[in-house]
Amino acid sequence: MRAVLLGPPGAGKGTQAIRLVEKYGVPQISTGDIFRANIKEGTELGKKAQEYTNSGQLVPDELVVDLVKDRLMQDDCKNGYLLDGFPRTIFQAEELDKFLAEQGQKLDAVVNFEIGNEILIERLTGRRICKKCGAGCHVKFSPPKVEGVCDKCGGELEQRKDDTRETAESRLAVYEESTAPLIDYYSKTGTLKNFNGDQDRDKLFAEIVSVLGE
Ligand code: ADP
Ligand code: ADP
Ligand code: ZN
Repeated sequence: MRAVLLGPPGAGKGTQAIRLVEKYGVPQISTGDIFRANIKEGTELGKKAQEYTNSGQLVPDELVVDLVKDRLMQDDCKNGYLLDGFPRTIFQAEELDKFLAEQGQKLDAVVNFEIGNEILIERLTGRRICKKCGAGCHVKFSPPKVEGVCDKCGGELEQRKDDTRETAESRLAVYEESTAPLIDYYSKTGTLKNFNGDQDRDKLFAEIVSVLGE
């Protein structure tokens, strides 16, 4: 299974990715997670990416593409992967296509999450992430049993720096401008599958599986 999860920030890509990883036994490759890990560790890449991620701008293509190609060459990707948050520009999509062609591979599906901006703002500003295990939840839509504490590991929950209302709004604008054109790009290749992202997470998961296959 080689698939791209496409959709605006907050659409539920990460939430579905966890379930899909388990179902299909392929890794989730989240460029956002890779950048956040590098920022936390203070690597050169992290230092370069930080100003962009914090302000909700895209990290420049030249810092993203080689990173993803290297990751996809690793052993755990040989039977497939779920790309979460990549590609985000037409240039990145073209580079991915070239890479796949070189490998004699192709994408099985582009899973596109359709959802309105108002609900996205509510999802992003209410999102909380566990400092310890990285699990995500939502203060209203999937509240932890104890406020501020991760259900899975007891770690402390925090809000991502870019999940403030202001930065969330700029991220949605960046999505419209730079990433939404990918819908058209992939609809031309016949790989695009559209899903209603504004529905119960388990129902959505079942719908995705029914389209991607058992
Ligand atoms: P993305 O990876 O696309 O940015 P996430 O999966 O992190 O999105 O989801 C954003 C927020 O919305 C999280 O707080 C998550 O718990 C919540 N969420 C995800 N899917 C749903 C859903 N189907 N219904 C309600 N809330 C959801
Ligand atoms: P979300 O889950 O809310 O969609 P991500 O975790 O995917 O957000 O991304 C967080 C930030 O990381 C983005 O706002 C951007 O700055 C950077 N980023 C992630 N993936 C890419 C990419 N493919 N190209 C450029 N920047 C990226
Ligand atoms: Zn945790």
